[in-house]
Amino acid sequence: MKFEEMFTEYLHGDQERFLDKCSHVEYKRLKEVLKSCRSCKHSENSCSSEQESANGNEAKGLCQCESCPFCDQKFFTELMKEASDVAGCFRIRVRHLLHLHMATGMQKYIKFLRHCFRDDQQLKLQEGRVLIQYITINAIAIRKILKKYDKVHGSTNGENFRSKMRAKHLELLQSPWLIELGAFFMNIRGSNAERSQGSNQYSFDFDAARPVMTMSLLESAELEYDLTCAICLDTVFNPYALSCGHLFCKLCARSAASMMIFQGLKAASPNAKCPVCREAGVYANSVHMLELNLLLKNRCKEYWKERMIAERAEIVKQYKEYCDFQTKYAIGHQLLL
Ligand SMILES: [Zn+2]
Ligand SMILES: [Zn+2]
Ligand SMILES: [Zn+2]
Repeated sequence: MKFEEMFTEYLHGDQERFLDKCSHVEYKRLKEVLKSCRSCKHSENSCSSEQESANGNEAKGLCQCESCPFCDQKFFTELMKEASDVAGCFRIRVRHLLHLHMATGMQKYIKFLRHCFRDDQQLKLQEGRVLIQYITINAIAIRKILKKYDKVHGSTNGENFRSKMRAKHLELLQSPWLIELGAFFMNIRGSNAERSQGSNQYSFDFDAARPVMTMSLLESAELEYDLTCAICLDTVFNPYALSCGHLFCKLCARSAASMMIFQGLKAASPNAKCPVCREAGVYANSVHMLELNLLLKNRCKEYWKERMIAERAEIVKQYKEYCDFQTKYAIGHQLLL
């Protein structure tokens, strides 16, 4: 089936009752924009690929212009807005769903009271599946329409636009909430005897050379999320995702931002940079990955315990240092008086 048909079918599917008020990428309309651009392209002052190739351009007909005067305004501005809407909607919905899970949470209770929660849990799983499908199909729509843009214009602007989206954290499939959702499915699968459909999409390998979570997408493509902390070079513990998407242990991120032990990550200075990509201001909207942490706790029990003990020891040590410093400061202050 062609993607466009698949997408149209999807838009008319019954997931809509879960997704009211969530917007989608306007694939059809964007395609219309490209179509009308193609038809007016032959005018004299247009920057067309044909012209470029006629000039014997070495770049195999690549458009040398930065932009297309006919459709960029409509095309990229709208696409950016749509991607941002989809990402926003996904974030809000997943956060809500997982908050509910954590609230009724604590796996022990779920196990114990499973029968009471059964229907509720099924509903959550269904919503989770709908959300994964929502983000995936919209991400594919964006990829396809940008490819189409480049094909029509003979340019690489579409591809470049993807890096722009990445820079604005709108790369939909890199959302930390997608990792959280994957961990949520695997956590539920762990607490459920029967395999829940949809969780098979995700797998988790802790014993590999580097720990990864894998998610298979609609078109048999796979996405891999590296769960290594770039600071301690171990599997993340009590992880946070900064808004650039990079994952760190809480303590590692805190030391990278030179923060006090009792400060939450969100209180980091706006100048504090991500240790990997050096982007500033990525702490304020960091995401505490509770589901991922629960997954690691359940699947890598020994490791998790080890790290927890180490974390506690580190906190005590830092706290002592802080107290010593305060005492010295107080004494010094008194002496001055
Ligand atoms: Zn155009
Ligand atoms: Zn770390
Ligand atoms: Zn980063």
